[in-house]
Amino acid sequence: MRRYGRLPHQPKRPLTPALFPLFADLRDRPVLVVGGGAVAERKIEALLEAGALPRVGAPELGERVHEWLDAGRITWLEGDFEARWLDGMWLVIAATDDHEVNRAVAEAAFERRIFANVVDTSELCSFHVPALVRRGPLQIAISSAGGAPMLARHVRRQLETLLDESIGTLAELLTRQREHIRARFPDLGLRRRFFEKLLAGPLPRLLRQRVDAAQADAWLQQALAADTSVEPVGSVVLVGAGPGDPGLVTLNALRAMNEADVILHDRLVSDEVLRLARRDATRIEVGKSAGHQSMGQDQINALMLEHARAGHRVVRLKGGDPFVFGRGGEELEFLRAHGVPFEVVPGITAAVACAAYAGIPLTHRDHAQSLRLVTAHCKDSSSVLDEDGLDWESLVRERQTVAVYMGVAGLDRLQARLLNAGSRHSLPFALIENGSRASQRVVTGTLDSLAETARQFKVQSPALLILGEVAALATPLHWFGAAPLQATVRSQRIDNPGAPRLHQAA
Ligand code: SAH
Repeated sequence: MRRYGRLPHQPKRPLTPALFPLFADLRDRPVLVVGGGAVAERKIEALLEAGALPRVGAPELGERVHEWLDAGRITWLEGDFEARWLDGMWLVIAATDDHEVNRAVAEAAFERRIFANVVDTSELCSFHVPALVRRGPLQIAISSAGGAPMLARHVRRQLETLLDESIGTLAELLTRQREHIRARFPDLGLRRRFFEKLLAGPLPRLLRQRVDAAQADAWLQQALAADTSVEPVGSVVLVGAGPGDPGLVTLNALRAMNEADVILHDRLVSDEVLRLARRDATRIEVGKSAGHQSMGQDQINALMLEHARAGHRVVRLKGGDPFVFGRGGEELEFLRAHGVPFEVVPGITAAVACAAYAGIPLTHRDHAQSLRLVTAHCKDSSSVLDEDGLDWESLVRERQTVAVYMGVAGLDRLQARLLNAGSRHSLPFALIENGSRASQRVVTGTLDSLAETARQFKVQSPALLILGEVAALATPLHWFGAAPLQATVRSQRIDNPGAPRLHQAA
């Protein structure tokens, strides 16, 4: 192999190599890619996205690269690498699987003072391609100077979770309005202060709510005219924290918790989830769980209002989903009545989570075509089953699954009412206590032994009751935590002696 020149002696790499970060404008500029395979394909794609004019030098081209050639988007230099391919190039990327060829490309580029990147060979590179987080025109490049690319990728993934899509929309808006903003605040110091207020104000929230571009432009124009509309205004995000497993928190919930000044959380929200929140956010437990009303709804509302009016970003964090037996609706009505802006982040509700973690499909073509979510508590009864609030006849229909929230305290009455309304004695149930958490317990049996079984195993709140044929699948489909416990109590009555009896003593 011919040598095209000599790369500079590579001194022992210092621990803090100084790379000069730069974003290159490659639009309509020819860039050479040596190689036509899979690795080259990714580089060519990135160059095309940047508007560059890739020239691809290789004996043959992969399928996609060929398509780009046919579409006239690239030029092909057919054959083995020749130094003259570099003439007139702004950059070169060597992406062949032949180390000698890659090295020759790097040497020839060095001689001509053309920046070269050799894929996966950092010591041959005179420029590195960073790991990238992209939101519209906003790009965050991460580099470890080739020393620890896996770490750079790890940081990239972390940033991906932190920044939602609306940051890109914000960047587009600011790009569109750049001249207006400069004209309004020619002084750099004033402009900076305006931006600080703008970004701490309501604009990011408006963009998350997906206002359209025209509305966003109008809003910004107005803010420019009367600098006051960017004063920080407090707001409340109603966030569903899921059932307890921190892995079930959504990215939007995580972002909201990271931006919060104040977090008002229910007792149901697990410590593991709270640990994900911004460290210096003020946390207030407004502890609401069945039976223990340590803070009334009025007090919670007053707290939300007080903090929002003080300009804070308040996260109202609730177990499961805020709109499923979470009083989310009432809280939003209150906020709306007081003019406090709000957002809602849904969470995984207990029925969905407990079913998944107990191996109980909520619907199943053989067993259940519909799902009902009911609660045994109503607004004014904190511990007694609200018998009149439920339509019992509809609850005992076959081929449906019923998930009962907050039911542990009233299982005797629930069982009696369902049997009275005509439910099958042998209807399978599963009680899931602490669903999705390490301490999860699943107790199974049939309706006629429900209350007694719950007593036998001392089932505690939070627990969710699932009634329906699908509940019997908890044992065969068990995959998480301890195996399901089965009733050892005998039912008082056997209404279907031929059916398999899950609940009988072993
Ligand atoms: N908004 C919540 C429900 C609040 S009501 C949601 O969407 O899940 C509180 C009831 O939810 C509890 O009494 C219990 O029945 C159920 N629940 C919540 N988390 C649970 C968990 N991890 N395991 C079992 N049941 C749970």
